[in-house]
Amino acid sequence: MNITLSYGKLTLLDNFGHSLRSPAYLFQPTEPEEISQVFNMAKQHDLTVTLRGAGRSYNDAALNGGGIVLDLRLVNRILAWDPATGLLQAEPGVTLQQVWQTVLPDGWWPPVVSGTMFTTLGGCLGMNIHGKNNFRMGVIGEHVTEFTILLPTGAKVTCSPKKNGDLFRACIGGMGMLGVFISITLQMKKIYSGLLKVHAFPVRSLEGQLDALLEGAPEHDYIVGWLDATAPGKGLGRGQIHAADYLHEGDDPDAKKTMQVAHQTLPANLFGVFPKSIIHYFLIPFMNNPGARTVNTAKYMMGLREECSDQSHAAFHFLLDYVPDWELAYGRDGLIQYQSFLPRETAHDAWTEMLTLSQRRGLPSYLGVTKRHRPDNFLLTHGVDGYSLALDFKVTANKRTKMAQMLQDFDRIVLEAGGRFYFAKNSETTPETAVRFLGEETVRKFRALKKRCDPHNLLESDLYRRVFG
Ligand SMILES: Cc1cc2nc3c(=O)[nH]c(=O)nc-3n(C[C@H](O)[C@H](O)[C@H](O)COP(=O)(O)OP(=O)(O)OC[C@H]3O[C@@H](n4cnc5c(N)ncnc54)[C@H](O)[C@@H]3O)c2cc1C
Repeated sequence: MNITLSYGKLTLLDNFGHSLRSPAYLFQPTEPEEISQVFNMAKQHDLTVTLRGAGRSYNDAALNGGGIVLDLRLVNRILAWDPATGLLQAEPGVTLQQVWQTVLPDGWWPPVVSGTMFTTLGGCLGMNIHGKNNFRMGVIGEHVTEFTILLPTGAKVTCSPKKNGDLFRACIGGMGMLGVFISITLQMKKIYSGLLKVHAFPVRSLEGQLDALLEGAPEHDYIVGWLDATAPGKGLGRGQIHAADYLHEGDDPDAKKTMQVAHQTLPANLFGVFPKSIIHYFLIPFMNNPGARTVNTAKYMMGLREECSDQSHAAFHFLLDYVPDWELAYGRDGLIQYQSFLPRETAHDAWTEMLTLSQRRGLPSYLGVTKRHRPDNFLLTHGVDGYSLALDFKVTANKRTKMAQMLQDFDRIVLEAGGRFYFAKNSETTPETAVRFLGEETVRKFRALKKRCDPHNLLESDLYRRVFG
């Protein structure tokens, strides 16, 4: 890697939804040793550094306007895999795709995955991702047995839940602001088939949606809801629930075959005809209020029949990966996602208010997803004993200000309802909102650790400056 700084190196980077852009000096190390060299150069030039995995965060977490961005995707070796214990050790640029494709043929699956397989382990730990099984398996950090982190001071520190526990619980979910994960050891989950039993059924209202998640969670390994955010009145919050279960040992006579990577791979064509790469073009005409209402209504009607089916793990978890570049269908100004986490007791009223508000202001979400959650003990946790609702919004130049105002109103509603936020998603969270949901004591602890690990504030991102600035 050429570690010199020149203006030719300024690269325009964006967030996953292509709604934010910022220029940075981009470096792509291939060896962990090169990371320290970039830190030294940053110090010499008085620049800050942001770590970037696959850049799949919906907001400015992996952006650093005018600074250095360290793209870690090429530091991507699987260092050790033990099929006897299910322990995998890997470098940070290894993707979830690499992980499941390595472990599945041996009868294991990552314990927690995001809705896309293209995220890196470094990015997943940086945000402490949750999956559709959060109520049962918690966040990914709960399955990390050990990691080694390179601090901006040059020190390498190994952490586990018991060793350097305060750092362990702060670096995981620490937005890449304390150091760089250079080696991560993760415990996989034993499975006995490449298939999941999936039960899909409709829910007619927000109340029905939340009840189904609450009552269904203890019965299933995974549960997730699709929510039609365009439906008004009595249908507000209607949608479809997908609950899924692992097969037990002996249930799948073809287990060896279904656990092969080839059995999981998402098909290259839709309906055997359209190449996946062009599907997003077909979505473009529906990316406006009437179009989104039509698609959501059609999806709801098609989901009215209850169904049970066997689905591959990849198909169930990574549905959005079926359509490459689907986010481009949102147009030039892209999309943002607003995800709020609310306690069981307050979720219904708060989300009723938010969904109604978005429809009244002519800014409905085109895609809503609900999940059931549990709390965890990581420092900057987004976990609650309750639910989350993720809402995707189309950004347009003439509605950007109106949208920002609405999201500020959402923040107020969520805070009053005792809710929390997730730093991988929202683009509007202010320092005041962060202090209110995290608490002053937590922010003070995080700042103290930041001072200890990164005394010269070398690690900064657009997100960090926005929220902790
Ligand atoms: C389609 C889609 C579906 C998604 N579904 C889910 C979901 O179900 N659940 C969920 O929780 N999230 C979900 N996400 C969000 C996504 O999982 C997180 O934003 C994740 O952090 C992205 O990983 P990444 O490799 O792209 O990291 P980036 O977005 O590049 O970076 C994320 C953060 O990690 C830090 N970081 C990166 N590498 C390192 C490192 N080596 N050491 C320390 N810090 C580092 C970065 O500085 C940044 O703060 C989804 C995103 C998309 C696009």
